[in-house]
This record gives sequence, C-alpha cells and structure tokens, in this order.
Amino acid sequence: MEILISSNNKDKVKEIKKIFDNKGIRLLTLADFPGAPEVIEDGNTLYDNAFKKAKLLFDFTGIPTIADDTGLEVDALDGAPGVYSARYAGENVTYDDNVNKLLKELEKVADEKRTARFKTVAVYYSDQHRFHEEGSCEGIILRERRGTGGFGYDPVFYLKEYQKSFAEMRSEEKNTISHRGIAFQKLYHSFINQVNQGVSP
Ligand code: IMP
Repeated sequence: MEILISSNNKDKVKEIKKIFDNKGIRLLTLADFPGAPEVIEDGNTLYDNAFKKAKLLFDFTGIPTIADDTGLEVDALDGAPGVYSARYAGENVTYDDNVNKLLKELEKVADEKRTARFKTVAVYYSDQHRFHEEGSCEGIILRERRGTGGFGYDPVFYLKEYQKSFAEMRSEEKNTISHRGIAFQKLYHSFINQVNQGVSP
C-alpha cells in the first residue's frame, strides 16, 4: 500500500518516515508529485492546517495522505507562537530568525517561567478513512542554543528529565518522546486498527 506524506519540510519528512517506514507501506513524498499544489497554512488551529494539507494532496493524487501541523506554545507568551510558529519572525524567515525572536521576547522572563510545549496534530485522509491523533511534549525554553541536531526550535527546547535539548538528542531518541513522534505513533496504530489490519506493526 502507498501513503503520501504531505509536507515540504524535509526535516519533518525524515522523522515521519522513520515511524511509518519498513512496515509494508511505500511512503511517497511531494517530490514524487512535481505539479502538486502549494498548501496555504491559513487555518486558525493546528487541526485545520493539518487537515487541509492532507485533504488537498489526497484530492490531487487520490493516494491516502498523512500530514501534520505543529506549534510551540510558550506560557510566558500566552501560548504564542502556537499555530504561527513557522512565521513567528515574519514571512519567509529562517529557523534561526524565529529562534532569535523567541529568545529576545523571553529575555526578561525568569527561568522558572520559561515553560513551553510542542503540540502536533497528525491527520490521515483517504476517501474511506479520515482520522487524526495528537501528541505533545513539555519543555523549557533555554537562554541560548544547545546542540546541533534536529531543526526549528529544537536547540532552545530543553527537556528536564533528559537534561538535553531536542537538538542534543539522536533522532531516534527525539522520535520516541517528541510531540510528532507520539502523534504519528498513535496515527500508525489507528491506521492498523481502522484501515489496514494486514500490515504488521
Ligand atoms: P509546521 O507549520 O507544522 O510546519 O511547523 C511550524 C514550525 O514549527 C516549523 O517551521 C518549525 O520552525 C517549528 N517546528 C515544527 N516541528 C518542530 C520540531 O519538532 N522541533 C522544533 N521546531 C519545530
């Protein structure tokens, strides 16, 4: 069976592939569909955006499609940047621009008030089956970057229990405990239960 991952973000695709790969499923990416429409992420919620990414690409390809949308909620910023995490510092910005803006906004915030969480909504969309799952991961926003792995806000997202930022973890370790890892592991189990009981977990 084939499943399409609806994301232009290579870092995300890598993580999602590790969860769905080698399980009797052939994973396709947008690179397999050069004329695919661009998805404008203008929803008010993570679910709206994830659903839109999956539906638009299913409508275009006819192939069952999975997608996610992820946001970083920072308590001291009343939940910002949230659904706007990709463009926190403006349109067409880099990961570094967003991290720099976050560090600046939190400059005067005390250590104990720098709590935050990543949230992911993952969607499966086909003509017969539509479902979604969620994952979240609690952490603290550091005052400066640590580590060179991961992507996005990973270098400043610190997990107390592991005493590491996401950027200091191996990708397998991040995938086991991260918002996206949890959401897609749950999505995979729903897929086995609802869609393809013949695929071995
Ligand atoms: P998207 O809208 O789901 O593509 O993600 C929004 C933004 O959140 C991305 O551009 C990244 O900057 C950030 N982001 C998403 N997932 C992660 C993650 O796992 N670690 C760090 N940053 C992330």
